Amino acid sequence: MADAENTAAERNGRTAPASQSAPGGIDDARLDVRDAGYCVYCDRIVERADDGTCAEGHPLEAVTGHILLVDDDPLPSLPVFNWAAFLIPFVWGPLHGQWVGIVFLPIWLFVDSIISSARSGGAVSLVGAVVAVAGTLAFEWFFAKRANGLAFRRVMKTQTAEEFRRRQRTWAIAAVPVAALLFAWAVWFHVGVAPTLAARS
Ligand SMILES: [Zn+2]
Repeated sequence: MADAENTAAERNGRTAPASQSAPGGIDDARLDVRDAGYCVYCDRIVERADDGTCAEGHPLEAVTGHILLVDDDPLPSLPVFNWAAFLIPFVWGPLHGQWVGIVFLPIWLFVDSIISSARSGGAVSLVGAVVAVAGTLAFEWFFAKRANGLAFRRVMKTQTAEEFRRRQRTWAIAAVPVAALLFAWAVWFHVGVAPTLAARS
């Protein structure tokens, strides 16, 4: 135990002053170690109460992982929004254990066909296409809002919140050109290829 505490102190760039091990004995010398975990209800890293539950009152089952904090270390935080999960959910999701991300692929193909038919349809089908796009983007927004917590929960034994944040930043940077290419391809297909095919038939 003493070793663990010393390591934690060294990690934080401090050494326990000699006075701490003076009169009060071992208890006074102990650093104040707090335990934190990810709470699925709070959707953030929270401090655990003495019984391991979320300090906000959520049950034990809601909290995953143990992040030990020493003295007044601040609670680590996760990014609030995951741009890669928003832009390319069907790629990002499966690679982060969130298979539901795959459903965005058939949804977008479906929305794409609604947009196609709206081009030749009237005002009603145009409104339908706008609603379909807005609804899909809202669904993706929700997915991307929850993505970080659920992904971090799976890897928190091996990654710190800071490492996770860095990896997800790389993901976001990579997702932008991929999403742009997909979008450009879809536009080109409709503007370039689809009318040509329609003209031939
Ligand atoms: Zn909570």
